[in-house]
Amino acid sequence: MPYISDAIDPILEPAACHVGGCLFKAKVAVSTDLEDIMPYVNAVARVVFYDSQEPVIIFKHDGYRVAMRSKELAAATVSSVEEGRKALESVVRFLNELWERREGITPLKKERKRPPAFQLYKHLPKTNCKDCGEPTCLAFATRLSLADKDLEECRHLTEGQAGALQEILENA
Ligand code: SF4
Repeated sequence: MPYISDAIDPILEPAACHVGGCLFKAKVAVSTDLEDIMPYVNAVARVVFYDSQEPVIIFKHDGYRVAMRSKELAAATVSSVEEGRKALESVVRFLNELWERREGITPLKKERKRPPAFQLYKHLPKTNCKDCGEPTCLAFATRLSLADKDLEECRHLTEGQAGALQEILENA
């Protein structure tokens, strides 16, 4: 019996709107209480936020930001129900496989918070060259803080800057 066996039939909620239209968050309710798997996700995934009291964990999976609460999964941003369904099915596959192999993983209960964008900004080149696709280094820092960007997308970091940023991201 898989950890999560519900049919994935998501609803969409607006997540971000711009001139060309809106992007959405795909949400689905599940019958499994997801609290038990959160420390395992925290141990293996790129986690942006984890609060074991609420409980909620936000992590990156396949380029999507996934928010997991006790009985709810959400993936953002998506442009259609179909994309949302595929994104959430991929999350469910990941969680089911993780649950299967949990005995070989040390669960991590450490809470995580977003590293402040300004703390990250201090270690960026501050040239606003736009090579990362963001208009400014501060915009890049903000998206890095949200795990919407990866360090490697700034190709102008010195070894020292990259090391300092990596340390902040790992210890957040
Ligand atoms: S590529 Fe790096 S230096 Fe250029 S704008 Fe982006 S963060 Fe700043």
